[in-house]
Amino acid sequence: MERLVVVGASLAGLRAVQSARRAGFTGSITLIGAEEHVPYDRPPLSKAFLAAGHDGEAVSFHSADELREQFGVELRLGVSAEALDTAAREVHLPGRAVPYDGLVIATGATPRTLPGADGIAGVHQLRTLDDAVAIRNALDAGARTVVVGAGFIGSEVASAARKRNLPVTVVEASDLPLSRSLGLEVGAVCAGLHGAHGTHLKLARTVSGLESQYGQVTGVRLDDGTVLPADLVVAGIGVTPATTWLSDSSLPLHEHDGGLLCDSTLWTGVEGVYAAGDVAHAVNPLFDDDLMRLEHWTTAAEQGAVAARHALDPAAAVAHAPVPYFWSDWYEHRIQFTGTAHADEVHVLRPASEGLLALYRRGDRLAGALTVDRPGDIMKFRRRIAARGDWTEALAFAERKDATPRG
Ligand code: ADP
Repeated sequence: MERLVVVGASLAGLRAVQSARRAGFTGSITLIGAEEHVPYDRPPLSKAFLAAGHDGEAVSFHSADELREQFGVELRLGVSAEALDTAAREVHLPGRAVPYDGLVIATGATPRTLPGADGIAGVHQLRTLDDAVAIRNALDAGARTVVVGAGFIGSEVASAARKRNLPVTVVEASDLPLSRSLGLEVGAVCAGLHGAHGTHLKLARTVSGLESQYGQVTGVRLDDGTVLPADLVVAGIGVTPATTWLSDSSLPLHEHDGGLLCDSTLWTGVEGVYAAGDVAHAVNPLFDDDLMRLEHWTTAAEQGAVAARHALDPAAAVAHAPVPYFWSDWYEHRIQFTGTAHADEVHVLRPASEGLLALYRRGDRLAGALTVDRPGDIMKFRRRIAARGDWTEALAFAERKDATPRG
């Protein structure tokens, strides 16, 4: 094994590079990334980065010089991989092919966009540093904001706008945000946070068009004919795994979203090719071999490291069984989730006013946990999920905790 190539220069790609060197790999490493920037931390982009008075840059993990000198990486930034030839073992860039012995694909996902937004200024998604800068500039200018999609990204943008006291409306297609993924009661609590902080929530409404003047957005037209005035529109309506460059390759892609299918070792089934992060659907042995595509910071970091180690030494590959974990900041509230919400039962233990705790049961096991404003608790449940913890025990533990005043 002489040449490791990593496509995708965000967190998963970076961790792939770092873990390869940590494992003692002395061959060449090429890191290819579509953005001009060295890998940077994305979670703050929809949180602190959007706050008034924040004019700092993104937080990079390492400078380009450090990546070259400390990790011996050849950087190819601002370049998109165009195709993959698994027979010749080459990644195709514009005008050149990069040969590999081991390949980690960590190209992430592309935000879905609103139809008809092309060429209209003031309409954004939030994924990259450049997106976040554009949104922050609009908020600095006092934009009337319409957010489309009450998922985690949209809700964080709404929070940031309200913290600046700007008028914000969130348009959400479903009857209750997050209820399909997290359950009705949790969805209702989260929706309540918007109302309590002065964000207008338009549920069961979709966008039928954008209004603009001189190329700048002026409003969002809903399916009931309402027009919401807007200087800034942010779509947080989900993502599509970034695999269009793989459509002619022999790699197995998910039939619905085109994500990269892999086994529990993050192997794609094609020699030398592993996947990590938002792009990957991986079998997770901890949850009945469910195929999971996780868009979380923690998973991207863990999978990047695992994929590189396995690409370098496939014979030593072992199943990876991550316990998903993510957090989201809504107004002054912190939402944390661990495990899976694909469950047989959701049990809500505490009213939202005192910090919510919800547990998710699958069979006789604890499968997931969600907290609002109980930062000290979530990891206790994460450990139980990792250990395939018993539901009754987890519930008793939660109830005991609940009886104890929080300090
Ligand atoms: P993100 O990562 O962008 O936050 P999620 O999938 O967590 O994505 O949330 C997306 C939200 O957007 C969901 O609540 C979904 O119901 C909503 N949504 C998707 N498409 C539309 C649309 N066209 N109009 C309004 N809401 C939408």
